This record gives sequence, C-alpha cells and structure tokens, in this order.
Amino acid sequence: MKIVQINNLYKSFGDNVALNNLNLGIDEGEIFGLLGPNGAGKSTTINILSGLLKQDRGSIQIFNQDLKGSLNQIKQKMGIVPQDLAIFEELSAYENVSFFASLYGIEKKERKEKTMRALGFVGLEEKAREKAKTFSGGMKRRLNIACAIAHSPKLIIMDEPTVGIDPQSRNHILNSIRELNHNGATIIYTTHYMEEAELLCNRMAIIDKGYVIASGTTDSLRDIINNKNVVLIGLKDISKVDTKALLNIKGVEDIHFKDNTLQVVSRKEVICLDKIIAYLAGSHAAILDVKMQTPNLEDVFLGLTGRSLRD
Ligand code: ADP
Ligand code: MG
Repeated sequence: MKIVQINNLYKSFGDNVALNNLNLGIDEGEIFGLLGPNGAGKSTTINILSGLLKQDRGSIQIFNQDLKGSLNQIKQKMGIVPQDLAIFEELSAYENVSFFASLYGIEKKERKEKTMRALGFVGLEEKAREKAKTFSGGMKRRLNIACAIAHSPKLIIMDEPTVGIDPQSRNHILNSIRELNHNGATIIYTTHYMEEAELLCNRMAIIDKGYVIASGTTDSLRDIINNKNVVLIGLKDISKVDTKALLNIKGVEDIHFKDNTLQVVSRKEVICLDKIIAYLAGSHAAILDVKMQTPNLEDVFLGLTGRSLRD
C-alpha cells in the first residue's frame, strides 16, 4: 500500500520555483530517502506534507486520505522532525516531549510513560530533568526526534536530522531510525549525504531543482551508470593536465578534479584506460596512484546532472 502519494506537486516563491511537478509514492513499511543537494526542494516538500506550507498545484494523499481536508486526522498519525530545531530551550527535555505529546492529544495519564519512552529511545532518559539549553547540538537533535515520536506515529518524516552533529549522536540517530522502522513505522528521510541514504534507505528518490531525477533502490540507481567506469588517478602536479586532450580520447565522457585526484568517467565498452595513462605519463603530471571506483550515488547524480551533490 502507498502510505504517501504525491502527484505533480508545484510550489514557487515569487519567481523561484521550489517544486516543479514532483511525483513520489512511498510504500508502507519502508525507509524512503529523499536525496538532493541544498535547495533541491526537500524541506519545501516536507513543509507541505506537514501542513506548514500550501502547494500552488498538485495533490497529496497520506494514509489514502486527501491531505487537503483531512490534515488534522492525518497529523495524529504523523511525526515530523523539522530541519530547524523546534524545541523550547528553557524547558527540560521531559517538559519539551510532554508538551508535544499533549499537542498530539495524548491524555495526561499516558503522557508520562510515553514521554519517558521517547526520551529513552533517543538515549536522553538520564537528562530528562535538564533544560534543553544545556544540551549539545547532537543532544538537541535527539530531543527534537523524541518530541516527534512520543505519540507513536505510523509515519515519521525527518528533515536532515544529522546535519552538524558529532559522529556518536549521528550513529545513535541512524540506529534509532532503523529501530523505529523495525517497530512498524514508515520513515521518510531527507538528506544531502549520499552515504546516509545508501546506508539507511531501502528506496530513494534523487531530487534536483524541484523534481525527481531518478528513483528506485540503491542498486537500481547504480545501474543507471553501471555501463561506466570511474577511475581515480592521484597526480603529483594536476596543473599539467590538459582537460581537452583527455576528453578527446575516445570513450572518455567526463572529467572532474578534486584536490590532487583526477576522476575520469568513461564508457565501459570502450577500452581507453591505456590511452588515458599514456597521455598522463607524457604530461609530467606524475601519476602517484590509480584506483577503480564502484559507482556510488554521487556518481549517479553527477552523471544525471553534470554537477556534484555537494556543490
Ligand atoms: P532543500 O531543503 O532541499 O535544501 P528547500 O526546499 O529549502 O531546499 O528550498 C528549495 C528552493 O526554494 C530554494 O531555492 C530555496 O531558496 C527556496 N525557498 C525555500 N523556502 C523559501 C521561502 N520561505 N521563501 C523563499 N524561497 C524559499
Ligand atoms: Mg532543507
């Protein structure tokens, strides 16, 4: 069953088109990744799903109900972890979670238990009585998550919950997402970190400029560029490389530089590595090492847009 269905979602801010006919279907039980660079339209999508923003055009069904008209009913079963922290600095962790639980209609007698369970889930039970303002960035992120899950939502939407936090909190968050999913919640997870999307998600959509440029399982996305070779060549003096000469070699499709590494994308069926090496050997760039790379999501994005995810 599709738990979320988004059809031709369009939203602009003045002349700036944030969503340009976005289409997405999310199945019950999956961890679905929304991967895209900054400005791709991830938060705009999430803000519309959570009722904070209204689309200009397009429709959304969640739990088979139209979002327009059933927002309040849908909200009871949905937990949103916003990109910008939504917690009260002056309140304790306990008070924060309990407040959000009350907004979701959790009765007072159940609230204590649900609040403590949510805090335990993110590893903050021992900090329950401490004010949010005393917390580290990672602890605040975890508290932000606890606020969104105390009412046991069936659908949890997280907008870049690991940006700017320490690796320990990050791992804690990724593991708790897996556990929430294991316990039956469907997760929508937005990120611009392709490693996270690869690690966490069963299926994902890569979005750019407000629409989906590719979607599927990680493997099916890799297949898009599986007919390509990606070679990384470490060079002593990268300034000696003439990009045009390399691009003139038959089979070479794309070239990127990063620090002292040259990345060459070529078609698998055209054997051109010997020519690339021969050119570089004659260029005085001095080859330090050569590595073949398995295509990753970054390469998929690069292949589809000509740009890096991290631009
Ligand atoms: P992402 O979350 O993928 O980084 P956003 O959804 O935040 O992307 O932004 C998509 C586009 O919409 C960007 O060009 C951004 O500048 C623009 N945008 C987002 N929110 C607003 C707003 N409130 N007012 C004007 N422009 C906005
Ligand atoms: Mg965002």
